[in-house]
Amino acid sequence: MALDDLYRDVIMDHYKRPRNQGAASDANIVVEGVNPLCGDEVKLWLTVSSDNIVTAANFEGHGCSISQASVSIMTEAITGKPVAEVGRIISEFRAMMLDGADANETLLGDGIALEGVRDFPVRIKCAVLSWNTLKLGLDEHQESSGGHIELSHTES
Ligand code: ZN
Repeated sequence: MALDDLYRDVIMDHYKRPRNQGAASDANIVVEGVNPLCGDEVKLWLTVSSDNIVTAANFEGHGCSISQASVSIMTEAITGKPVAEVGRIISEFRAMMLDGADANETLLGDGIALEGVRDFPVRIKCAVLSWNTLKLGLDEHQESSGGHIELSHTES
């Protein structure tokens, strides 16, 4: 099986069988993201413990297969990780998508399957939407010293 086919299968699997889907009532960060270019929407419910571990990451959303697969993949990549490591994972994903960096499977997990989206520049925002939304939520959480926050983000 060609690598491109394998990656397409991973993306379609997350799109059709999304992981960590559904609202989480005990989340302390709720953040919505919109990509107006494509009409993609994601809403994240993040639960960050007092010792800065992302203990749960849930989402709801609709939009194209790339945006919805990306958010499903992202929730799997960050659940159980310290916030500092999640920051590195976000940076690594953005570097792969936006700067052409080599994919790092150890950090990104199934996220490496989105590498091929780089060949379709108009779709890159679909892939990074949930990651930029996550970054905003975690940054504001750090600023707010851990209180409950609700925010929204629009790709521009
Ligand atoms: Zn899209």
